[in-house]
Amino acid sequence: MTVSVFQQGALIFTEGDPPDCAYLIEEGRVEIASERGGERVVFDVLGPGEVFGEIAVLDAERRTATARALTEVRLLRIERGQLIERVEQSDPIVRQLLRKLLTRYRSTVAVLRGELESRRDDEEHDSDRGAIAKISLEAALRAALQGGEQLELRLQPIQEVATGRVAGYEALIRWHHPEWGSVAPDRFIQLAEETSLITVVGAFVLREGCRALSALRARSHDVFVTVNVSARQLEAPDFVATVEGVLSESAVDRRGIKVEITESQRLDYARVAQAIDALRGLGLSVVLDDFGTGFSNLSHLHRLHFDAIKLDRSFVRDMGRDHRAMAVVQAIIAIARALGAETVAEGIETPAELEQIRALGVRYAQGYYVGRPVPLAALL
Ligand code: C2E
Ligand code: CA
Ligand code: CA
Repeated sequence: MTVSVFQQGALIFTEGDPPDCAYLIEEGRVEIASERGGERVVFDVLGPGEVFGEIAVLDAERRTATARALTEVRLLRIERGQLIERVEQSDPIVRQLLRKLLTRYRSTVAVLRGELESRRDDEEHDSDRGAIAKISLEAALRAALQGGEQLELRLQPIQEVATGRVAGYEALIRWHHPEWGSVAPDRFIQLAEETSLITVVGAFVLREGCRALSALRARSHDVFVTVNVSARQLEAPDFVATVEGVLSESAVDRRGIKVEITESQRLDYARVAQAIDALRGLGLSVVLDDFGTGFSNLSHLHRLHFDAIKLDRSFVRDMGRDHRAMAVVQAIIAIARALGAETVAEGIETPAELEQIRALGVRYAQGYYVGRPVPLAALL
């Protein structure tokens, strides 16, 4: 930031000028005024610590007022690029709100000037609606997480292929909204990831997963429960502490909890490796979910100390009709075996698919053919 000094009475910028920077007042006083039908209207007089000229910079429109030094002033210039970069890096909802405020400001100025033209176009209207829908979804999710009764885990059986017995369950979150009905996890998990709500969702899922495990263990002593953790959760600095906190609330056997980490482009392997080691340090097992679709970059695979891989549904679907897909599946299974990891195939929808993975020596099978996700109560 550079410092500019203006003498008393000097013009800092004039109404109609193109914007290049905003200013922070270090010393002195600045008057913000405008011409209205030949008359000068003073909007504001600003002093040290205050910022002006930011609106035109943010929405890249001409200055709507004139700034003049009332005394000698020292100003820090905030360059347009610095501001724009920060706005572009901000949360999408904050960005949308900012755009909205700017639009509102501009129309207010237009009304004050008696111009009253409409600045809105349809596109703007649509993106407003999108942002508003998102905000109300986020508010509803926040409320649901506080109450807890709209959120529920469904448990989908995971079968041990060789014996046919149910060895464990994957916990899948469900949200039943009183008015909207059920909201798909894909939709609200992504939203939760854009905010810090994912940490709360994650804690809820783990807590309920532990509760389900305790209940299921009363009937079957070595059953396990898997819970999903998204990339954004792993990134949070308090991730491991949150997991540890939830685990210490119950006396559950930690070896019965497996954490599924979805492959993701947004995480680098070092981060994932760290998270895997921390989770295993807490006594949990780690499964690489949707294996083959993301970071199963061979050059880093040996550094990830996972316990199992879950073959993505797309491989299971394709391997029956494409011998190249089958070859890839065989290679993945061989890698997992060589690394001492267990294998799970997801998306098993037909007896033929189950037979195929049996022939390949995959340890566990999951999918609609084995069983749909059901509430815990249905299993007790
Ligand atoms: P995922 O972890 O890959 O979960 C498997 C998804 O496939 C589930 O959808 C499940 O219901 C569905 N599925 C299971 N068997 C079959 C099958 O035979 N055929 C087909 N076509 N689909 C099958 P769901 O429950 O809608 O979850 C979607 C995704 O949402 C999950 O994908 C996971 O990424 C995310 N998710 C779900 N619950 C949680 C959670 O508690 N935490 C986090 N972070 N993510 C979750
Ligand atoms: Ca999963
Ligand atoms: Ca999956």
